[in-house]
Amino acid sequence: KPLVFSGMQPSGDLHLGNYLGALVNWVRMQETHDTIFCVVDMHAITVWQDPAALQKAIREVTAAYIASGIDPERSILFNQSQVHEHAELAWVFNCVARIGWMNRMTQFKDKAGKDKENASLGLFAYPSLMAADILAYRATHVPVGEDQKQHLELTRDIAIKFNNDYAERIAALGHGDAFFPVTEPVISGPATRVMSLRDGTKKMSKSDPSDYSRINLVDDADTIAQKVRKARTDPEALPSEEAGLKGRAEADNLVGIFAALSGRTKADILAEFGGGQFSGFKSALADLAVAKLSPITMEMKRLVSDPAEIDRILARGSERARAIARPVMDQVKDIVGFIRS
Ligand code: ATP
Ligand code: MG
Repeated sequence: KPLVFSGMQPSGDLHLGNYLGALVNWVRMQETHDTIFCVVDMHAITVWQDPAALQKAIREVTAAYIASGIDPERSILFNQSQVHEHAELAWVFNCVARIGWMNRMTQFKDKAGKDKENASLGLFAYPSLMAADILAYRATHVPVGEDQKQHLELTRDIAIKFNNDYAERIAALGHGDAFFPVTEPVISGPATRVMSLRDGTKKMSKSDPSDYSRINLVDDADTIAQKVRKARTDPEALPSEEAGLKGRAEADNLVGIFAALSGRTKADILAEFGGGQFSGFKSALADLAVAKLSPITMEMKRLVSDPAEIDRILARGSERARAIARPVMDQVKDIVGFIRS
């Protein structure tokens, strides 16, 4: 079976974008692939995280994975910092990747903002650690949202350059002509880019300072209804056909979310709600979101009430992950020319 790796940062509450853009695909891929899902805590600290809040968020993200349908027996489920091979391989990749490659990364530009000199070095090197996360398992498929496409291209570039730089050594050690696979991004599913409820030009993000910009998996029914009601729209009525959504980012986003949650097409949704005001559509959307998310929310609450059990799941997953990553890292050390005991 092909091997899948993916992860999310415990940098806040998981939201509808994380769910529709990634988690739904993860759950589905458990049927057809060997799957490894990580809570990437080392990525989270590339921007400041309060330590107590970080520990809580790691457990919550783990609970959200399980509540959404990730089975910790079938999949390997763990947190990144427990498997030190990620950090070790990231260092090697820091020496393979070029500064010029990193300079082109739009996520760094977005997250560093205007004061780039004051961003952490870790935030700049983020894609190199992400390449290590994936390639420590020599995973071939990575299901992510659209925003991660550029980082996955960089992962491919790192794998190709490593394979080229060490080609002779890789062949001499019996690995053939490539040690690392060239990973395929899997960007598909109900909604690959869910936008902020406050600004249709920005993606929905955990790190957006406005909680009204997103629907969180932990939000209760009243909060969801209020956020949808307050979601930004334009003064026009909803169009009856999809072409009418052009140039109306906020309307397009809400219709897209409705379609994704209901498993229907946008055209179908507009045939029902087109010509009407946003208020009626919004209350139907809120009801739909509550119906879809409340079973997940309830299961998450149940799971986080037993943090020791979550910690046991993560420890067990980390052991299973390390069993795969350690021999890969040993081989990398041999390829690079380190001496190990
Ligand atoms: P942060 O703001 O801290 O970066 P985030 O919301 O972007 O948080 P990540 O942990 O960085 O979440 O990403 C986890 C996964 O969710 C990735 O696969 C990413 O592509 C996907 N994802 C994030 N935001 C969206 C979105 N708005 N729509 C679809 N997929 C998304
Ligand atoms: Mg992100």
